Amino acid sequence: MEIQKQKISNGVKEIISEFESPMHKIAKEQFEEAAEILNLDPNLRDRLKKPARALVVSVPIKMDNGRVEVFQGYRVQHDSVLGPTKGGIRYHPDVNLGEVAALAMWMTWKCALVGLPYGGAKGGIRVDPNKLSINELERLTRRFTAEIFPLIGPTQDIPAPDVGTNDQIMAWMMDTYSQQIGYSVPGVVTGKPISIGGTYGRPEATGQGLVYVILETLKNMKISPKNSTAVIQGFGNVGENVARLLSEQGVKIIAVSDIQGGIYNKRGLNISEVIKYKEKNKILRGFPNAQNITNDELLELSATILCPAALSGVITEKNADKIKAKVLVEGANGPTTPGADKILNKKNIFIIPDILANSGGVIVSYFEWVQDIESYFWDIEEINKKLFKIITSAFYRVWDFSKKKKVSMRQAALMSGINKIAEAHKLRGLYP
Ligand code: GLU
Repeated sequence: MEIQKQKISNGVKEIISEFESPMHKIAKEQFEEAAEILNLDPNLRDRLKKPARALVVSVPIKMDNGRVEVFQGYRVQHDSVLGPTKGGIRYHPDVNLGEVAALAMWMTWKCALVGLPYGGAKGGIRVDPNKLSINELERLTRRFTAEIFPLIGPTQDIPAPDVGTNDQIMAWMMDTYSQQIGYSVPGVVTGKPISIGGTYGRPEATGQGLVYVILETLKNMKISPKNSTAVIQGFGNVGENVARLLSEQGVKIIAVSDIQGGIYNKRGLNISEVIKYKEKNKILRGFPNAQNITNDELLELSATILCPAALSGVITEKNADKIKAKVLVEGANGPTTPGADKILNKKNIFIIPDILANSGGVIVSYFEWVQDIESYFWDIEEINKKLFKIITSAFYRVWDFSKKKKVSMRQAALMSGINKIAEAHKLRGLYP
């Protein structure tokens, strides 16, 4: 670990470096700003700035060549005052404790904001999943699940997919957990395949939720979907579904991208052809009838809607001034730095912040968990009807709050989530 900075607090030398990372800094800054406006009790502020529990594990696996490699894994539970903790598992080469802690904090605010009976958590392994064979990926997932076993469970902490993980990985996690317990426990993870207790609508849930809030925004701006254009960064689970569902609503998708770069056509891209092309060629670049562009150029295109749906920290003080979209809808967690946020607000760009915009994923995860517990399953119409109701009412609550308190949509969303958590802490008191 890097050199630890220390500060004196109550005569105790406090090590403050464990969670230090650019993303945790952003999460903390956002929290402090919202806490200040809310005039939050300082005792509670200190408790909420750091996660309640963090587990760091080594995950040794036998590689296909017979050698053993050790990967670093994490599970962080930020706050459990409202119920079991909930949040995805990320497989990415940049995963670190601070990043996972930041993402766990955002899950706390997200679940509270949309009214789910959950606290926030997140987990991950520092690995590039594309470099592993399917068998190595399975051994990694199973060993990681065994290492975090003491922390997870359907009444304790419920993982789900995130960047670099999918339904197959959730199936292995569910199986590994169930093998230890001795019977099938589908409710231990969400985002599973339908046949083992998954739910309809979970794969497209985050994208579907984003589209619901985008359509409400356009309605309020009196712009018809048919007269709007969209630019989407990222073509994973979230980006691809947003592109598909928005184009079905008549929105012209003029640019999309993946990690290698983007494709642009100002007359609009045929999204079903793009999906087929990506499936066949594994990359978007080279798609016929489109111009290749970089991910940086893509963010600066003129469009009605800009949806960053890849990784965090892509809109910064360096490029915020060049953003030309009317609406910024955050599919990814933490795509905008606080500095960039201020610039975008000055430019009057309407921001639908991550904890609201991408909450469709965890909302449908909640439906999956409820169905698993009841062993009674719903159809897709019921899922989408309930998702629409929860996410649009959260959207209007945030909107009204932002107008009433004269704060940005982001501050309003954070303040609503934080306020709920603060109220629950006040009622439950401090143990012992
Ligand atoms: N990983 C998703 C998120 O960041 C979903 C979490 C879940 O479904 O529990 O919201």
